[in-house]
Amino acid sequence: MSKFKANYALILLIIFALILVACTPQTGVVNTPPASNQEQTQQPAELNKPELEKEAEADTETQVPQVDYKQIGVNENGQIMLLMYHGISDKEDIWVRTPENFRKDLENLYQKGYRLITLKDYLDNNIKVEAGYTPVVITFDDGLKNQFNIIEENGEKKIDPDSAVGIMEEFKKKYPDFGQGGTFYVYYPTPFRQKELIKEKFDFLIENGYEIGNHAYSHENLGKETAEGVQKALALNVFYTQKYLPGYDVFSLALPYGIAPKDEKFKYAVSGEYEGTKYNNRAILRVGSNPAPAPNHVKFDAARLPRVRASELDTGGVGMYDYLASFEKYPEKKYISDGNPDTVVIPEEEQENINKESLKDKQLVTYKKN
Ligand SMILES: [Zn+2]
Repeated sequence: MSKFKANYALILLIIFALILVACTPQTGVVNTPPASNQEQTQQPAELNKPELEKEAEADTETQVPQVDYKQIGVNENGQIMLLMYHGISDKEDIWVRTPENFRKDLENLYQKGYRLITLKDYLDNNIKVEAGYTPVVITFDDGLKNQFNIIEENGEKKIDPDSAVGIMEEFKKKYPDFGQGGTFYVYYPTPFRQKELIKEKFDFLIENGYEIGNHAYSHENLGKETAEGVQKALALNVFYTQKYLPGYDVFSLALPYGIAPKDEKFKYAVSGEYEGTKYNNRAILRVGSNPAPAPNHVKFDAARLPRVRASELDTGGVGMYDYLASFEKYPEKKYISDGNPDTVVIPEEEQENINKESLKDKQLVTYKKN
């Protein structure tokens, strides 16, 4: 019996080996191609995404864009508003918006087809808004407490929902497609006026797509400074910002009082050095008053960028709502995107206003309006 058992075991072993041999090539042939399929289907959705995006990217390169330029009035050489805010506080004034009015401004911009971009993207001509929409840049001067206030509620710190940052964050949650951005032009010693929270606030701003700009060390009138004084005021601002944010590139300046250094000293508004701290402003922003030219416009001058005051009081016809109304009447004057940041699409007659050198690797596309 034991011999039989041994034979039986041997037969089983042989059968098992045969099955294994028979199956091995089969599993090899059948399983290899589906293995990758299986891998794909088993991958988490996030891992599959880049593949899909790659395909989509490849498609846009070879396909003719589906945007009807004429119908949506594309003009990527049209004007762009760089909005200027100061305080956000209870009492409306020339330099103050109430929280309600600031919310109203954002809502108006959103509903009228404006989308937020950063100043950096404007300067880099890297405008990524959807076809038919108009980019807008928001700036805040002076680093006031009501721009970024942190309050305590039930023993927990939170952003004051009525401060500029609180309102913008709330708005972004409501309309995620509004975009993100906003430059805070701060001065020292206490940006946003809560000494112990400077670093925390700066970190929050950078992590959430905002920028920090130069508004001189202590809001000096640069028109009254010597060459050394201008450099000291601007370099010290950078020095202190970098103390809180090591290595941070402070690349733009909003002139305090809108006043630039005089004559030959103007160059120190652009770049300079003081006690080992260098600065280089890619853009210099003024106080008023009209929308800024598009980055490829012959009139684009990064050293002299006008801003539109976001206010409804004493606007003299050059406030934010004046331009919103004017652009509604004459939409051809504003920048209207084709949705593709690699091309600069303009109506034929706009060609003479294009600075061709500024296009760099962007493709200029013209179309007939009529
Ligand atoms: Zn100021």
